Amino acid sequence: MLIVNSNAVILSLNPPYVYVYFTTQQIISARTFEVYRKQSDIEELVATVASQVNVNVYTAQDRTSQIFSRFTPCYYQIRIVETGEETEWFSWDTMYRAWEFEILDRNDQLFHYDAGAALFIHSERTDLTNVRCPNCWDITNQMSTGSCDLCMNTGRQKPYLDPVMVHSEFGQSSKVLEYNLVEAEIGQKLITMSGLPKVKPGDIVHEPFKHELWLVQNVNCIGRDTAPVLQQASVSLVNKSDIKYNYLVLDDDDMEALLADVDEVNNERRF
Ligand SMILES: [Zn+2]
Repeated sequence: MLIVNSNAVILSLNPPYVYVYFTTQQIISARTFEVYRKQSDIEELVATVASQVNVNVYTAQDRTSQIFSRFTPCYYQIRIVETGEETEWFSWDTMYRAWEFEILDRNDQLFHYDAGAALFIHSERTDLTNVRCPNCWDITNQMSTGSCDLCMNTGRQKPYLDPVMVHSEFGQSSKVLEYNLVEAEIGQKLITMSGLPKVKPGDIVHEPFKHELWLVQNVNCIGRDTAPVLQQASVSLVNKSDIKYNYLVLDDDDMEALLADVDEVNNERRF
């Protein structure tokens, strides 16, 4: 591989301005480098850079607006036109730094053992390979025709990932935070939890034994958006007549078994 090092650095958030750099292994000539950006599975050529005599460090700038999003990170790749070589996709901030892991771990412990109670998150699928529902999808109007048992009227096959248990504070306020990161409107509750798994608007939260589903409305975090160490979300109750209650509410017996397992582990870890 001719390119040995590549990275992207945010120069400015407003206006968006990303600086992509890469280093070649040796000084090469007669090569054309293409810099691609990928966001939400859409790839776009953002810059073409020609090799230069006696140069092995190159830079490119991406000045595209609206590339900064909390939930759709942006990746870059460099390709060499003449040889077809390409780097891995890389980004400026998709990785947790070592110290962020330390904080994340501490928050995990805090919510798991001291401040939180268990609940289940059904994360909404957002990948574009998500297949349209064969049962109810109306191609002409690009929407679900409704009353669909297969997709819960979302029009997408398997619209939610399998539920994940998290420990969080669930209520009107947080004891962990001195001030709220998001505002709870009338009828809404707040979920305060560690940084993982990442929660986003559209996800569904299920409170054990209450048989209630809550829709995530707003999310804010402490830490970088792509590597949060603590999250707070406002949620609103899903209407009791919603078809999702038929599918996303976990059975009490299953729930008890799951929580018993967790308790056992908790007791072991607490000596
Ligand atoms: Zn359907």
